[in-house]
Amino acid sequence: MTAPVLLWFRHDLRLSDNQALIAAAATGQALQAVYILDDAAAAQWQAGGASRWWLHHSLAALGNSLAAGGGQLLLRRGDTLTELASLVADTGATAIFWNRIHEPWADQLDSQLRQAFGAELELQCFGGQLLYEPEHIRNGSGQPFRVFTPFWKHCRQQAVPAPPQSFPEQIRFVSSATLPASDLLADWKLKPAHPDWAADFNRHWQPGEAGGHAALESFCKLGLQDYGVARDRPDQAGTSRLSPHLHFGELSPAQVWHTVQQVTAGHSRLARGAEHFLRELGWREFAHHLLHHWPTLPTTPFRGNFKNFPWKNDAQALRLWQQGRTGYPIVDAGMRELWQTGWMHNRVRMIAASFLIKHLLIPWQQGEAWFHDTLVDADLANNSAGWQWVAGCGADAAPYFRIFNPIIQGKKFDPEGTYVRRWVPELRELPAELIHEPWKRSTGLDGATPAYPPPLIDHAFARQRALAAFAVAK
Ligand code: FAD
Repeated sequence: MTAPVLLWFRHDLRLSDNQALIAAAATGQALQAVYILDDAAAAQWQAGGASRWWLHHSLAALGNSLAAGGGQLLLRRGDTLTELASLVADTGATAIFWNRIHEPWADQLDSQLRQAFGAELELQCFGGQLLYEPEHIRNGSGQPFRVFTPFWKHCRQQAVPAPPQSFPEQIRFVSSATLPASDLLADWKLKPAHPDWAADFNRHWQPGEAGGHAALESFCKLGLQDYGVARDRPDQAGTSRLSPHLHFGELSPAQVWHTVQQVTAGHSRLARGAEHFLRELGWREFAHHLLHHWPTLPTTPFRGNFKNFPWKNDAQALRLWQQGRTGYPIVDAGMRELWQTGWMHNRVRMIAASFLIKHLLIPWQQGEAWFHDTLVDADLANNSAGWQWVAGCGADAAPYFRIFNPIIQGKKFDPEGTYVRRWVPELRELPAELIHEPWKRSTGLDGATPAYPPPLIDHAFARQRALAAFAVAK
């Protein structure tokens, strides 16, 4: 038997358009697939609670797909280098193939891996998690981009992303008789049990490659045409909900890109929505570009002018925000949607984040950490870029003086209150005119809302206070 290749899965939990898998299959050697849960390497940025729920189901789906082709996904938990060394020893593998992920700790791990094994093994690392690798995109002066529009314009002038490749037909797996030991997925306890706060997630998501393709197909059929307008409406199903599938690599961005192009070809009515949608993929590229070139993005303001900002460390207000009990219906609906489904609509992410930072003056890193723990699509690049954008300290960020008014935002983007009613049942009986300002309701009327709290802070006061704080920071 020839020595096998180790195929090390990371955020590429798919079989189709998987460059490492395709290259490994092309060697003609047998493949041994492995996933290693290495929390220590990711340290502060190890998968949060909701991501772990997703990871459990995605690994189960990948394991099943590999098994259907005659392979097996080995599961190991612990230090990546130690586990890979032990697998090399057990299997006699001569090569390790993997697809790169773009988080700073992962880049470091890749370097360590090269140092540890470079002399004795063939090591091959591939792309595919982004449309454009961050090193290849530079402005006219050879520097990384700091502004989105020229970044995306430059990207669009590059060669079109290579078309996705399907699952290789000729593929050999290590025989099951000689397999090294694998952990049991259930023993990793990635799913919450007592209490099972993710009990409802199954109703909203189908983790895994098949679920990703189904979501993409459904969006292209139903959502693409009106995406440009509907994407801002949390009361409508106007966005693709592909974010967790993209984060875990169940779909490659090239698959998304080419599917959208194919669906759009010859249908001019889809062109506008498609262009807008691809631009959002561009924001994903931009966030990863920023994280690659400024690895402190998750913790440190991109702009230095925030060093002296008078933040408040208010644990009680933070808790109320996390629980969706701020008294502002659109904020609370978002925070409850997040808790109950592991996802929040982008418009509401912006409103809820702005409320935490600008109304409560709580450091954006605390909101970022909560999102990291509770989002099924928690993504270090997108999350930190999103929070810095809202705070006004990021690259190409919203100006600091743009302080979202949660009442106006609610009325504009959830005019009938459908979204609020879905997630804040205490307000279900309120008419549309009052739903974003429930405190205006006179007490004593039928259907009063005693369980719903009054506003945590007055909007006009909070706005003035935030502007004063930003003036100090400047
Ligand atoms: P669609 O509108 O259908 O967009 C398609 C894809 O484009 C998304 O799946 C996503 O991969 C990408 N995308 C869309 N908008 C953005 C954006 N603003 N920045 C980067 N990529 C984008 N996105 C995450 O994937 N993970 C996060 O942890 C995350 N945290 C965020 C935190 C804040 C404070 C904010 C304001 C935004 C955050 N976003 C994050 C970006 C955005 O909210 C989500 O990508 C989007 O809501 C996912 O829903 P969708 O797949 O239906 O998006």
